[in-house]
Amino acid sequence: MPAFAAAKIFRSASRHRLYSSFHKIMDNLAPPKAGARAASSFVFDKAFVNGEWVAASSGKTFEVVNPANGKVIGSVPDMDAADTEKAVQVAYKAFQSWKETTAKERAALLRRWGELVHENKEELAKLLTSEMGKPLAESVGELNYGAGFLELFAEEAKRVEGDIIQTPIKTRRLLVLKQPIGVSGMITPWNFPNAMITRKAGAAIAAGCTVVLKPAEDTPYSALALCDLAKQAGIPAGVLNVVTSSRDNASQVGKVLCKSPLVTKLSFTGSTFVGKLLLEQCASTVKKVSLELGGNAPFIVFPSADVDAAVLGAMGAKFRCSGQTCVCANRFYIHESIYDEFVQKFGATVEKELRMGDGTAPGTTQGPLINKKAVEKIEAQVQDAVGKGAKIVCGGKSTGGNFFEPTILMGVTDDMRCAKEENFGPIAGVIKFKTEEEVVALANATSSGLAGYFYSRDLGQIWRVAERLETGLVGVNEGVISVPDAPFGGWKESGLGREGGRYGIDEYLEIKYVCMGGGHFPLCPPTALSPGAPCGSTWTAGTGHTGCHTADSGKSGSSGIEAQVQDAVSKGAKIVCGGKSTGGNFFEPTVLTGVSDDMRCAKEENFGPIAGVIKFKTEDEVVALANATSSGLAGYFYSRDLGQIWRVAERLETGLVGVNEGVISVPDAPFGGWKESGLGREGGRYGIDEYLEIKYVCMGGL
Ligand code: NAP
Repeated sequence: MPAFAAAKIFRSASRHRLYSSFHKIMDNLAPPKAGARAASSFVFDKAFVNGEWVAASSGKTFEVVNPANGKVIGSVPDMDAADTEKAVQVAYKAFQSWKETTAKERAALLRRWGELVHENKEELAKLLTSEMGKPLAESVGELNYGAGFLELFAEEAKRVEGDIIQTPIKTRRLLVLKQPIGVSGMITPWNFPNAMITRKAGAAIAAGCTVVLKPAEDTPYSALALCDLAKQAGIPAGVLNVVTSSRDNASQVGKVLCKSPLVTKLSFTGSTFVGKLLLEQCASTVKKVSLELGGNAPFIVFPSADVDAAVLGAMGAKFRCSGQTCVCANRFYIHESIYDEFVQKFGATVEKELRMGDGTAPGTTQGPLINKKAVEKIEAQVQDAVGKGAKIVCGGKSTGGNFFEPTILMGVTDDMRCAKEENFGPIAGVIKFKTEEEVVALANATSSGLAGYFYSRDLGQIWRVAERLETGLVGVNEGVISVPDAPFGGWKESGLGREGGRYGIDEYLEIKYVCMGGGHFPLCPPTALSPGAPCGSTWTAGTGHTGCHTADSGKSGSSGIEAQVQDAVSKGAKIVCGGKSTGGNFFEPTVLTGVSDDMRCAKEENFGPIAGVIKFKTEDEVVALANATSSGLAGYFYSRDLGQIWRVAERLETGLVGVNEGVISVPDAPFGGWKESGLGREGGRYGIDEYLEIKYVCMGGL
């Protein structure tokens, strides 16, 4: 067991000596295989923006420390808001060309990236262990898992398909396109410094998005090594950007990623506390958000279970990564009839199988915790439990530095901190239960809903409990269930969205409903539309343009409309027809010509019967003008040039596009906006998805 005192802040006198010897130590762990790069060649002391290695504009750096021995590995740029804004600009520019690449091109680059991770995994594992602490074998496991996402998304890139919807109106064709959402901001944690990046960035890049990612302060090196391999794989400059920052700067970097209108997606993995903060910050731009947050996983063993198999499952579910995974079991509910047997076997297995130590030392199964704060939290949870009557079966204390013994507590109750809070460390609190109903209620009595595990050989019970657990992942007779191929994500406060599997790429795609018409219909043909469709059959000011625009536009709109007309006229627009209120809530249908984009009627939503007409010259110019708004609900255009129809339909940044049609809403098609016009879809076969949770059930024991 290595002994050291301070984990993160190391005395400055020893820093340079430690740093200079680090590369040698890492390369000497086990020499790289013939032809493979040395581990030290993956240590970068700069961030990665626009395909280049860059320092922070302030010139500041922060140190990265090996949690097993407190030695400084090196330092990386401590970037701030201005650096992050630059990276966002770069990613936005790169997006304009990256989104035009074919899925086949993107797939080839991603596949190569994944191969490079595989080819270098032994050396990358040394780097990962040195900054994060997990045993080398687990680091290699993480690199396999991480590369698995790149391989998976290389395949999924080519399977992003749209729909053709059965048209309810003969003269129209209804299509659904799926398009890259844009620049994706990402913030990742330290416990999986490689896989949490590939799980997000792999999906985003496959979809045609570009990325600005902030790794955790503790583990920037694995992120930077991935950048190096992405470059080597041929992923173009600006597609993947990594901004490193210390904990002090994390919040300003995060704010840029959340609030920049150029960033259209934020994906975060980390604590529920920070996740909630970021979600609030993203509200300012109605950003699409994916959150992979904390858990409080129940692990239930029913009387019919194979107890030996349950103990093995418990070992994996609890003690891998020293208990520092979000899906780690947190509460062990054991049926009263097998409680003593389970506790005895669990304790004996822990004592026999687990060895604490530096992750690079042969035979180590338990590395250090990430820092002193993590050790203190676990210590406090153990003290709280013991103070309330729990008994220590094994372990129970810190052994110095960032190490804490693998610990089992029996006689735990649900009011103890170790059962109520996420441990994120190697302690297992064991709780007795009597009935299935009771234990399912206990398991669900938490605001978290990430993972749940249970062991049973009763088929009816397996289905009942798998269905009733309120978690996004369920392990049945299995304790380690994450694979790149399955959807990963939480219910309740454990998160939003899914990563991995064929679902993961959806988080980086926008849905666009394109209605192609003939343009020869009268407005809203009454026979063609379904009852309740948004427009009526008459177009007469005075009796009201029925449906969407009567009372509302009158109350809030009329004065707004009047002001918009006055503003336009004062700036040089001309009234072609209408132009005034006729009393009450009525306003004449109005056409204005000579309108420019700086007039209120063009900049603001009218929500009333005025049409401002603007002259344009080129397709490029008009698409840019059309998209130069934070809104993205609907767009319409008329053209008979087939190439132009596809180009413009694809380039308009709106959730609905009418091509040669002016009234396009039907129950059968997905309705919803891009950018600040909304989140999610209503209608079509997509509408019901908003009311469904996804649950991945892994059935093992076969
Ligand atoms: P954390 O404090 O939330 O940190 C995660 C990331 O967020 C780090 O990059 C961190 O940067 C950054 N961050 C912290 N405060 C921020 C702020 N105000 N604005 C922007 N970014 C900020 O989480 P942690 O304690 O390191 O990680 C453990 C938690 O993550 C656990 O709750 C665990 O369950 C959860 N987790 C969930 C999953 C999942 O897939 N559901 C996976 C892994 C971990 P710094 O490092 O610079 O502070």
